Amino acid sequence: MGKFNINHFICRSDNYGVIISDKNSGLTASIDAPDAEIIDQELKRNDLKLTHLFITHKHLDHIEGIEYLKDKYGCTVIGPEKEKDEIPLLDITVIDEEYIDFSGSPIKIIATPGHTLGHIIYHFEQDNLLFAGDTLFLMGCGRVFEGTHRQMFESLEKIKKLSPDTTIYCGHEYSLANAKFVASILPDNNNIKKRLHEIELLRNKNKHTLPTLLNDELKTNLFLMSDNPSLKKKLDMSDATEEEIFSELRTKKDNF
Ligand code: ZN
Ligand code: FE
Repeated sequence: MGKFNINHFICRSDNYGVIISDKNSGLTASIDAPDAEIIDQELKRNDLKLTHLFITHKHLDHIEGIEYLKDKYGCTVIGPEKEKDEIPLLDITVIDEEYIDFSGSPIKIIATPGHTLGHIIYHFEQDNLLFAGDTLFLMGCGRVFEGTHRQMFESLEKIKKLSPDTTIYCGHEYSLANAKFVASILPDNNNIKKRLHEIELLRNKNKHTLPTLLNDELKTNLFLMSDNPSLKKKLDMSDATEEEIFSELRTKKDNF
């Protein structure tokens, strides 16, 4: 048991809300603000007061609740310096490799451009927790809206270097569609087959598939596996670089 309580729930249609709180200090953060009403309900249900908002990027489905929550709780809003003009009511802006403190836990900011140019993720180093926003999903990665495929590839390389036992929370429940895509590329891979099956069972019962472990992603998330020999072979790209493999996969997924 870590020092934090984490509360994970669906907002809008497929966004995840995440509330993390320290039982001792009472400090409580929400990762992004997809839906003020639902986040507020969850806070009340657990008798918590919001002290921090950690924003990953500027898309509306991650920031729409900021105004209401800040107005109600007076919480400190933290977000990417690079998107400060597009995210309302930021109190603290942060850049790549900067550290902030949350209840005595060091949080490293990691810039992950690709989905948007200013996207950041929050790594609770001592607690092996990563809040990945729309950069990484279970068996998938974010669509590359603003950056280049190279930028997204390099952003994911940063995640790959974290400890394999890192628990990852993502911005959306996209696991079933992602797993189907991955299985369409490598249908004979046992780890992938098994995981697709597990996800189908969970989603049939309308259960969450997240959080995920980095170690499981390293074995089943093709976007982190561009050095995998059978993947290269399957794509008929034996001489390609890892970055080229990633780019091909991202394009294929966009059209899947
Ligand atoms: Zn987004
Ligand atoms: Fe999103």
